[in-house]
Amino acid sequence: MNLTAKLVDIGVNFRSKQLTGLATEIIERAKDANVGAILATGTSLESSRSELALAHQHPGYLFSTAGVHPHLADGWNVAIREGLLTILADPACVAVGETGLDYNRNFSTPANQRRAFAAQLEMAVVIGKPLFLHCRDAFDDFQAMVRDAVAAGAHGVVHCFTGSQDEAVVFVELGLDIGVTGCVANLSRGQALREAVKSIPLERMHLETDAPYLGPKNAKRRRPYNEPANLVWVARAVAELRGIDELVVVQACTRNSVRLFGFSTQAG
Ligand SMILES: [Zn+2]
Repeated sequence: MNLTAKLVDIGVNFRSKQLTGLATEIIERAKDANVGAILATGTSLESSRSELALAHQHPGYLFSTAGVHPHLADGWNVAIREGLLTILADPACVAVGETGLDYNRNFSTPANQRRAFAAQLEMAVVIGKPLFLHCRDAFDDFQAMVRDAVAAGAHGVVHCFTGSQDEAVVFVELGLDIGVTGCVANLSRGQALREAVKSIPLERMHLETDAPYLGPKNAKRRRPYNEPANLVWVARAVAELRGIDELVVVQACTRNSVRLFGFSTQAG
């Protein structure tokens, strides 16, 4: 498969309630909207299993991640770790995560979040697959923990980046890539991101919908949920903010996603 001028959506939550039973039609619409590959987000052992099963139904088009989201970190244990490692041994499962820290509402205790995150960082180092990272209101702890993992050989992307320009600079200097969602088209709540997007190096940027969440406000939305078919609107908003051609954004981000996740070698 030649992904050169196609979009790659690096964040779709097919297991979310809103997308239940819709995978086939969503993937068809994504293909019609020039999306050439999708990375399905695993957020628990169970969803990591089902996203991998879905990836197997769409070989070369759908890939998956395996991890435990910080919201669910209270349940972390050795059996989950072993289960995730089994999933991660599959070539269609291309990243460790979603993992990270989220101190916004502390659905799991910060201590448990750090424990689950540390374990998953170590897994990524050991197996050599990239990280799919989540950081919300936890910048200091997050960057300290990731820094150690990167020193040990880890690499990855901070998905759904919504932080400041300064935080973006720190992540990029650490060697991490940055995932940009439809928040970039949100004129009120996306202001920090809209500023940051102007200076994030294009060779470190990825595009994602984080569907069904975060529908881009510039899209002509026809459905009550966000979906990969809307990814072009994210690319368009980034291109407008940087004053460059949309195709340049698409090609750069796709190249980055292929490089980080290795889609090209497996895409048939
Ligand atoms: Zn997230």
